[in-house]
Amino acid sequence: MSEKTIFKRIIDGEIPCQKVYEDDRCLAFHDISPQAPTHVLVIPKKEIESVETLDDTDAAMIGHLWLVIRNLARELGLAESGYRVVVNCGADGGQAVPHLHYHILGGRSLSWPPG
Ligand code: AMP
Repeated sequence: MSEKTIFKRIIDGEIPCQKVYEDDRCLAFHDISPQAPTHVLVIPKKEIESVETLDDTDAAMIGHLWLVIRNLARELGLAESGYRVVVNCGADGGQAVPHLHYHILGGRSLSWPPG
């Protein structure tokens, strides 16, 4: 069996996180190395490596994650000023943790294009 990712270990309660939200399908917590004044990660509890390995049957869960992201952005006070949602995929996308995750970044003006 392959080794658990750091995010799976967080889901399983083996390592701590600064949790901001949890339900039966997902978990949201502050990024350990924030790239903006607010930097929260939203992850599915289901072990999905990346966008690339999403299954068609994941559609409802992914829709749910977007609504959680919308709600969190409001609760975190980002909705009015704006924010960015980033999903890195694979090596060229800069994905370091092979468990699907959404970065919510806000609290400052973000530049474009990304590096
Ligand atoms: P990515 O490069 O898209 O795979 O992003 C992985 C993110 O996970 C990075 O922003 C890391 O700072 C963050 N990260 C890694 N380990 C932890 C952890 N234990 N708790 C919170 N965030 C983490």
